Amino acid sequence: MLGRKRLILLGPPGSGKGTQAKLMSERYGLVHISTGDILRLAVQEGSALGRRVQSILDEGALVPDDLMIELIRERIDRPDCEKGYVLDGFPRTLGQAEALETIYEDLGEDVPRVLLFDVNSDVLAQRLTSRRGREARSDDAEAVQLERLRVYQRDTAPLVSYYEERGLLDRVDGCGNIEEVSARIARVVHS
Ligand code: ADP
Repeated sequence: MLGRKRLILLGPPGSGKGTQAKLMSERYGLVHISTGDILRLAVQEGSALGRRVQSILDEGALVPDDLMIELIRERIDRPDCEKGYVLDGFPRTLGQAEALETIYEDLGEDVPRVLLFDVNSDVLAQRLTSRRGREARSDDAEAVQLERLRVYQRDTAPLVSYYEERGLLDRVDGCGNIEEVSARIARVVHS
């Protein structure tokens, strides 16, 4: 167990963040906070949040920063987060990263380290194609996946240098099978 460990996972759609975050929660006892899962659940339940974000998710666009920042502020404040957590899908814009810095400042805590999933574009394309067959996600249609990749390059990729400049970034080679990637993560997490 890695009590109170906090990590941010960064990487394009299809890089394996979600899969590895789930494994990390099982193996290290960390809470898996997936903003994508939270939003999809809200849509399924038809809550006020869900009704607000459904069309945004279906287009592959990003939910507005202020909504996401409030959602995360409230989530990491819950008692289960005492045991440590993995942020999967947040921050996704510079505005969210800056807001997160303020949240930790207010809490008197350091910003968590960031794990970047490095995956080349051929592998990404392959994985997204096979996911279309397997998972019934309404945002997994090909055009929407391409839009999400474009949005990642435009809005999220700048976070790599943002965290690199702050000395907070570790890169993990995300190619290979689930266990191979998991072993690489274990090395970084335990170092
Ligand atoms: P991915 O397959 O890209 O990892 P996610 O499950 O993390 O997808 O997110 C699915 C969708 O949820 C995104 O395309 C976006 O519309 C929305 N979303 C998730 N996290 C955020 C965020 N931090 N800011 C804005 N929108 C978000």
